[in-house]
Amino acid sequence: MKIALILILSSSIVFPQGKSQKAHVHGAAQISIAMEGLKGEVEFEAPADGVIGFESEAKTPAQKKLVQDAITTLKSRGGELVIFPAASACKLTPKEVEVHREGPQHAEVHAHYDLICSKPISGEIKFGVTRLFPKTREVSVTFVSDQSQKSAKIVGDAGALKP
Ligand SMILES: [Zn+2]
Repeated sequence: MKIALILILSSSIVFPQGKSQKAHVHGAAQISIAMEGLKGEVEFEAPADGVIGFESEAKTPAQKKLVQDAITTLKSRGGELVIFPAASACKLTPKEVEVHREGPQHAEVHAHYDLICSKPISGEIKFGVTRLFPKTREVSVTFVSDQSQKSAKIVGDAGALKP
């Protein structure tokens, strides 16, 4: 399994949850949204079990395909993971998607997107994580902007976050 790992931290935006705080709970995920004006970043992090289906090193062609499929989904369907109000015309552009080991038995999937909106966000942000990755049921979301700081727990894609 060879996945390009390029971490570019060019932004001054600070995510409210540092990496040290994240918990590895199968079936759960974390999404951080940070905005400054109309621009921002979205980070998605989840145990690979809930996204790929397993956490061991991918060895067989079938396992490698599952990893590749998950990465392709994360790269191409970020706008379905985090669903911004249509009126804000936000666009998510994948910046980095990777799978990293967490000790000998566990692995995490991490996706990082650039976010740009045409208008300020008015209305609710919704989520479609469980629709894309049915084994991931629970998502802890944080939103931080120059105007607000909110968090929400989304279970089975129900509920929303209002910035
Ligand atoms: Zn695990």
